[in-house]
Amino acid sequence: MPGTPGKQGPASRREALKELLARARACTRCSGLAATRKTVVFGAGNADADLMFVGEAPGASEDEQGLPFVGRAGKLLDQLLQEIGLSRAETFVANVLKCRPPGNRDPLPVEIENCHEYLLRQVELIEPSVICTLGNFSTKLLRGDPTGITRLHGQAEVITLGARAVRLYPIYHPAAALYTPRMLQTLREDFAALPELLAAGAPEQPRPGAMPEPVAEAVPEPALEPAAEPANAPEADQLGLF
Ligand code: URA
Repeated sequence: MPGTPGKQGPASRREALKELLARARACTRCSGLAATRKTVVFGAGNADADLMFVGEAPGASEDEQGLPFVGRAGKLLDQLLQEIGLSRAETFVANVLKCRPPGNRDPLPVEIENCHEYLLRQVELIEPSVICTLGNFSTKLLRGDPTGITRLHGQAEVITLGARAVRLYPIYHPAAALYTPRMLQTLREDFAALPELLAAGAPEQPRPGAMPEPVAEAVPEPALEPAAEPANAPEADQLGLF
């Protein structure tokens, strides 16, 4: 996949993502989630990706492994990518929430709000041309509008996130398609449009004077207490950067 002209250097991007990961791993903004999580599932993939996926929240497998979309929905995501000639290594995958809601319940509004800055900073650093939102939670959050995925799926639009314009492309969540053949068919059709969207490149960017402040400083500093992460989740592995 060609890189987007104007993107920042790969080395500084990786360093900044690692710093952000360290902050996320120490985050206790949602005290309930911080108490029950095994790992903080920050997101993983290619730090220079033109294509970013945003899901909902980690499930049990993700919480265990510290990586996003490693369960059944993740396998389907891999398969759909393969069908359009892409691999996970060409994308960056993140979630609205970085911590697993107990029992896989829906994310709470306050949790979404608490975690929003991490996602915005990830977008700011990775600078994707296309963000594919998977399902309702990420679609509603990034569009800032309650319109649901059933009405929006498969329709790309240009939105501004922080200082950057991106092509937003909402599609069904792969977990929903696992059990509904018609939804899987629709998801496949929507995936088929992704290569053309990527080929269109980044949308026209806002003029520098018109840009809002970057979100970099808004991400909370780590709490003073050490992050309760298992020793088998070293930073670089957990980030899974290619
Ligand atoms: N579902 C999600 O939304 N995210 C994951 O990481 C896994 C399943």
